[in-house]
Amino acid sequence: MSSDCLFCGIVAGQVPASLVAEGERVLAFTDINPQAPTHVLVVSREHHPDVAALAAADPPALAELVGLGQRIARDAGHSDFRLVFNTGADAGQSVFHVHGHVLAGRSFGWPPG
Ligand code: 5GP
Ligand code: ZN
Repeated sequence: MSSDCLFCGIVAGQVPASLVAEGERVLAFTDINPQAPTHVLVVSREHHPDVAALAAADPPALAELVGLGQRIARDAGHSDFRLVFNTGADAGQSVFHVHGHVLAGRSFGWPPG
């Protein structure tokens, strides 16, 4: 755990969050500023700064994260979903603890803004 990390605080139960689902290595909670009818963040329980670091350090955790993201979308009634990993500040990452955004329930444009 990184003591100054917001999502480590949520994993530890020290920061309140609306939990959606749990796995052995990952945890899911609703985004505080939803951008779609379903907008859930899936994070690793261990601190890794971004998805590339997680892929290098713990591939099973990344696979679990992706699988849980699909299940969350499906359980919310959506066969289609967008799974986004903003990686680096210029790509829009603002919390440097890996998280997949599970977005579903509306149409999405491409290319992204
Ligand atoms: P990023 O910009 O790093 O890809 O995504 C960070 C996400 O975390 C944003 O969508 C933002 O709304 C969300 N967020 C920031 N602070 C909190 C918080 O305290 N609780 C929850 N549930 N989400 C947060
Ligand atoms: Zn962290």
